[in-house]
Amino acid sequence: TAKADGRGVYRFFRDEMSLRSQTRRLLELELRRALISEELCLHYQPMFSMDNREIIGFEALLRWNHPTRGIVAPNEFIWLAEEVGLIVPMGQWVLEQACRDAASWPGHISIAVNVSPVQFRERTFADQVLAALAASGLEAHRLEIEITERVLIADTSMTLAILQRLHEIGVRIAMDDFGTGYSSLGYLRQFHFDRIKIDRSFVADLGEGDQESLAIVRAVASLSSNLNIATTAEGVESEQQFERLRAEGCDTVQGFLLGMPVPAEEVSRMFAEGGSAISAA
Ligand code: C2E
Ligand code: MG
Ligand code: MG
Ligand code: MG
Repeated sequence: TAKADGRGVYRFFRDEMSLRSQTRRLLELELRRALISEELCLHYQPMFSMDNREIIGFEALLRWNHPTRGIVAPNEFIWLAEEVGLIVPMGQWVLEQACRDAASWPGHISIAVNVSPVQFRERTFADQVLAALAASGLEAHRLEIEITERVLIADTSMTLAILQRLHEIGVRIAMDDFGTGYSSLGYLRQFHFDRIKIDRSFVADLGEGDQESLAIVRAVASLSSNLNIATTAEGVESEQQFERLRAEGCDTVQGFLLGMPVPAEEVSRMFAEGGSAISAA
């Protein structure tokens, strides 16, 4: 009957919900443990100059080395870390570790660190950055903070004040995943970014000969050059994409075509061997 069906559906949802909240609770506990028992680690993906394909810097990408699940990607746990506030200590650890690793690399090599909007809600964020620089001895201009448009949606004058303060310290600021937000162009008026990273969804379609993506990439490249902002194309996987992006005037590129994210030891080994060749995909 309809009534029985209704109850069945209700029970299904109830079980489903408690399962979901149990999974969530477990994940939260595991994440707390991960942070204290050093299960987190950073992989570094190289960024290359378009002109000569030389490495100009690396982006720190968070990984969770889970005791039974193996390496877990950030998209699987950062959302929860943001919800429960764990992203704050986690992000601070990322910042400190990345600065420490980068301080041992050659002086012309920069380090980019992704920062969550939740970290920006901390009044002390700029001080955390200063502390990480001081502790590692890394020069401020070698550090680039990557934020997404999500940081600016929340707006608040506090966010802008923090960005301004970081700028004064000499840290560079990049807008990540450009073009995927609600008001991409509007954000460029609020703050002068040092770099725009063109989201890899546009890059992916380039290879397919997609005219709309090509027009968008062209517009972003020309806009950036007029505003004196550097551009990085994300997620470059083919020579065809690479050539198109070069023709449009992008400055730097990142992607599996030229370099995968690798552990810190591999970066050090590469510099020790005096090479600039990181194993490509
Ligand atoms: P993102 O900052 O846009 O980082 C680029 C992502 O694209 C990375 O995924 C990278 O491995 C991947 N990628 C790079 N080249 C290619 C390519 O050629 N093809 C494809 N298909 N993918 C490519 P990952 O490491 O899984 O990170 C995903 C996102 O998680 C990052 O996107 C960033 O938003 C976030 N994230 C990573 N580390 C941190 C962190 O320390 N803190 C915060 N708050 N977020 C982080
Ligand atoms: Mg990024
Ligand atoms: Mg990105
Ligand atoms: Mg992206």
